[in-house]
Amino acid sequence: MNEELKKSIMKTDFEDIIGQENVKDQLKSALLMDRHIILVGQPGIGKTTLAKNVAKIMPEKIVCGCSFNCYADNPSCPECLDKKKRKEKITHKKLGGKELFVRVQGSPDLTAEDLIGDIDPVKAMKYGPLSIEAFTPGKIFKANQGILFFDEVNRCSEKLQNALLQVLEEKKVTIGSYSFEFDLDFIFIGTMNPDDKSTEPLSDVFLDRFDLVYVEHPESLDLEVEIVKKAGKKLVEFPEKLLLTTVNFVRSLREDADVDKKPSVRASIGLYERAQGNAYLNGREKVTAQDVQEVIVSVLSHRITLKASIKFLKSTDDFIREEYKEYSARPGDYR
Ligand SMILES: [Zn+2]
Repeated sequence: MNEELKKSIMKTDFEDIIGQENVKDQLKSALLMDRHIILVGQPGIGKTTLAKNVAKIMPEKIVCGCSFNCYADNPSCPECLDKKKRKEKITHKKLGGKELFVRVQGSPDLTAEDLIGDIDPVKAMKYGPLSIEAFTPGKIFKANQGILFFDEVNRCSEKLQNALLQVLEEKKVTIGSYSFEFDLDFIFIGTMNPDDKSTEPLSDVFLDRFDLVYVEHPESLDLEVEIVKKAGKKLVEFPEKLLLTTVNFVRSLREDADVDKKPSVRASIGLYERAQGNAYLNGREKVTAQDVQEVIVSVLSHRITLKASIKFLKSTDDFIREEYKEYSARPGDYR
């Protein structure tokens, strides 16, 4: 681990993320030891923001101008070696912040070729199948010396998982008959949604290579309101007490035994913005409880799913309307 990065990790509080102190500490200790990490949590919980924040604290880097981002003082990729051989000058480029963050979206359609690289058949005919001219490096090389953010890694095929493991463990790249050793150096941050039932679970062999960091919904009502105000757009006044009540309603749905898929912070932000829009549309300068009520189904109904036992009795829309009505009628602070 580079000393400068070590210092940044010790110093940072990942200020783009409000709260989540435990997650931040877990992430920091994993980063300090160059561990591969998978952030586990529902969508909309801030996993991407967290990973981007890691990229933000990374020191700027000077690397070779090739497609492999190799070390400026040790150009070792096939492109650079070829340049060396032909006595051409090796150019350099500066990587910082955004360039250090490379996002890959996991999906069953993603192939090892997309990620690692491919042989261009036309060029292979011209230069030979094992020539570097025929190899088109994949996305993984763009992340070299930066961060590979692998969203929904559990959606990938087993074949791709294996290819990824080989790269992470052996730093060796194999595409068909093409194989070369290359010192890939990046921070791997994957994400996984524990409720994603559309995919096969990750194999034990795969999981054994990673540390899992669990990201939960905001720890407290106050923190969630702070996040909502920071992330949401502002149009008209949203009275504080009504906002606390509204956000707390979303939080109560997460605790509700009848709710299977829980609403994320995006639901709270959605209510915050849409209730303001509704007030503005009706010529009001201040959000009222009626505004919240009028947009609540549109914001929430697709963001939750009900347990099978209740789904047969009522629709999600009716469930939300009834729950909100009952919740609003309850006495007490932030109800
Ligand atoms: Zn290079």
